[in-house]
Amino acid sequence: MKLHRLVAVILLAGLLVGAVAYCLSNEIARVGTPVYIGNVRTGVFHRRSCICLPQEKNRAYFHSRREAVEAGYRPCLMCEP
Ligand SMILES: [Zn+2]
Repeated sequence: MKLHRLVAVILLAGLLVGAVAYCLSNEIARVGTPVYIGNVRTGVFHRRSCICLPQEKNRAYFHSRREAVEAGYRPCLMCEP
């Protein structure tokens, strides 16, 4: 009976560690890929999927909406980021 309980605890701990590792890797992936793209010429930022993204050389990358706004950019009216 005690052994079963020990096994259950070990399994649960394993699941917990796995879940935490999964969340951390997601977080790293999220931080690693910029979500918004700003146009340094117009001061407008877009979602990555927007049809009016600026040329590669005029792009500024942001990881969050707040980051873009704090950098002085305003949201695009087309993609409404
Ligand atoms: Zn846009």
